[in-house]
This record gives sequence, C-alpha cells and structure tokens, in this order.
Amino acid sequence: METQRRDIVYLDNNATTRVAPEVFEAMVPYLTDLYGNPSSVYSFGADVAKAIAAAREQVAALLGCEPDEILFTSCGTESDNTAINAALRTTGRRHIVTTRVEHSAIVKHAASLEKTGHRVTWLDVDPGGLLDPAQVERAIRPETAIVSVMWANNETGVLFPVEEIAAICKAKKVLCHTDAVQVPGKAPIDLARCGADFLSISGHKFHAPKGVGALFVRKGTRFANQIIGGAQEKGRRGGTENVPYLVGLGRAAELAIDSLGHELPRVRALRDRLEEAILARIPDTRVNGDRDRRLPNTSNISFANIEAESLLLELDAHGICASSGSACTTGSLDPSHVLTAMGLDSPAARGSIRFSLSDYNTDADVDRALDALPAIVQKLRAAHPRP
Ligand code: PLP
Repeated sequence: METQRRDIVYLDNNATTRVAPEVFEAMVPYLTDLYGNPSSVYSFGADVAKAIAAAREQVAALLGCEPDEILFTSCGTESDNTAINAALRTTGRRHIVTTRVEHSAIVKHAASLEKTGHRVTWLDVDPGGLLDPAQVERAIRPETAIVSVMWANNETGVLFPVEEIAAICKAKKVLCHTDAVQVPGKAPIDLARCGADFLSISGHKFHAPKGVGALFVRKGTRFANQIIGGAQEKGRRGGTENVPYLVGLGRAAELAIDSLGHELPRVRALRDRLEEAILARIPDTRVNGDRDRRLPNTSNISFANIEAESLLLELDAHGICASSGSACTTGSLDPSHVLTAMGLDSPAARGSIRFSLSDYNTDADVDRALDALPAIVQKLRAAHPRP
C-alpha cells in the first residue's frame, strides 16, 4: 500500500488533524520501552500510571477543571454516548433536549433512544445556525434527564451560548452536556465559568491520534458506566488504558493551550483571506453560518449551481482536501442535516463545501486553493448550465 503522501493542501481539519511531531515524540517511549501495565504494583507499571496522571493534568488544564473530573475514553462518540446514557440511568428520566444540528454521535444516538420509548425535543436553529437559549429553557420539562447542545458546529463552526445554556440547566436542576469536540485549540474552554456537567473532546481534532478522547464529568455528578470491567478510571470505565494515546492526548492538550495565544490569530487571518477571496472572485457564492459567532478556522461556503461532490473530486485532483458535511456522513446522498436545519434548500445544501484550517496551514496553501477554485467552479458550471 502507498503510504507516502504527495504534496497535499489539507483544508479538512474539522474532519481530523495531523498528529503533531511533539505528540508523536511523547508517545514513542510508551509504544516501545515503557510497556508496563499501569495497574501493576511494580515500578515498571507504576511509572506508566504516573504518565497517565500527568496526561490527566494536562487535559484538565486545557478544560479548566480538576484532573479527577477527566474520564478518558476512546473517542468523541464514546464521550457523547456515555454522557447521555449516564444521565438517563442516574436520573431515571426519559426526556432529552438537543438540537437538529448536532453531530451524528448525538443525533443518531438520540434518534435510537426515541425508538425505545425515550422522548427527544429537537431544537431548531435560525438561518445563521444560532440557537436561542430561551428555546432550551422552554423545552425543559420535569422528566428531562439531560440537555445536550454542541459548543461549536463541525460543519459551519457556529458557536452556541453554552455558558448561558448551562446556567439555565443549573437553575432548572437538569443535567447539561456539551459536545466540545471541535473546540480545543480553536476557542478557550473554562469549566470554572461554564457550568456544564459533562463535556466531550476527541484527540484527533487537535493533533493527537485518532481513537482517544475524554469526557469531563463534574465533581458530584452521578455517573453510570458505559464499559464495565476492571477498576481503571476510578472504576468508571473498565479496560486497560491506551497509554501511548493518553500520553499523546495530554501533550496535544498542552499544544492546544499554546496555540490559542500564538497560532490562532494567524489561522483566522488565513481563513478570512480564503473566504473573502472566494466570495470576491467566484460569483454566486455565500457563507453559511453566522460569520461573527463561529470558530476562527472554519468556512462553509455555498457555490450556486454546483454539486459539492464534483467540486471535491476536482479539488482532489489538484491535491486539495476539503469536505461537504461531516466526514461521518460521507457517502450519504442526503444534503447536510445542519445546512437543511438552517433553512438552505436542497440544491444550496448540496453545493456547499467546508474548508477548515489548522496551525499547519500556510499562506501557500491558501494561494493554491485560490489558484484552483475559480477555474474549477467555472468548468463545472459550464458543464451543467443552469436551466
Ligand atoms: N462531535 C463532533 C462535533 C465532531 O465533529 C465529531 C467528529 O467528527 C465527533 C463528535 C465524533 O468524534 P470521534 O470521531 O472522535 O468519535
């Protein structure tokens, strides 16, 4: 199998990110020499347990919480599922409040719970993809187990007012979960200010490897295991720890804190340059989602009279990676549920592309995308003229 990459322009960082060299370097000893089981009593194991404790502190620092409040998981999806299931089981209630624009880790889980007798209130967003906290307040009922709203949307980058929503939940004595998988390294998270009870993150969205994540569980919040077995994670998740990946997650958390101060303004400027040039040089284009209240790395753009899949294939031929919708729904012929919920009609939703940048993107990447895009769009529009 070909493992060498050609010179690509990677503009799909909300799908996944490159493992940072610093992260890889931190992991290597735990993939080679330091292979002890962290639960063993001898020091060869206990030293590994110390590495996990250090990673927990690093992740806690990223989120502004206590290390004890971090539960390591295998991914963002597991974190999301665990939070909802724990709330249902510990409260004994059967009603969930969430939104129509969540990732499938929430949408499909909630929809499957609906089939087993749970009730779900699906909140709408406005045309900018924004959620009004008053809707959340109105949706909460005595049998509500949990409110789950994402911090930042993976397709548009639009931010929800999670702090305000968490305060509403607290006042109503209802648990609050936020899917913050897209946030680390792109916006600050401070769980001393945001009162959510549960918060999900995933390593591969911020330069750790795929297959490792964490769930914040606020101290005092009742919890029910998703995975039952050994006493790992203080008995909250059985299974021998994925030590190298946890060490990588910890190092990535440190880098994400740094990049908020250093790299983020540069990433925002690159995103803005890309977006403004597309709007200026390619007719009949528009940005999807509120342009002020969104992540600084994401741009979701509708190209009128274009099928996103054709555009993505042409971009791929130029070595440029972008996406339509979520990577987890690729292959589905349905238009994006996020853009549809924002009121886009089917042709507009089908003609939308997401560009998402990271610290590793350069001016040269943006130049290459801007060199290629206008001609590609012109060619595709000429091949399928508007009726
Ligand atoms: N939530 C959001 C907002 C995401 O963007 C993703 C990944 O695309 C997930 C959850 C799922 O994370 P993972 O791929 O680690 O399961």
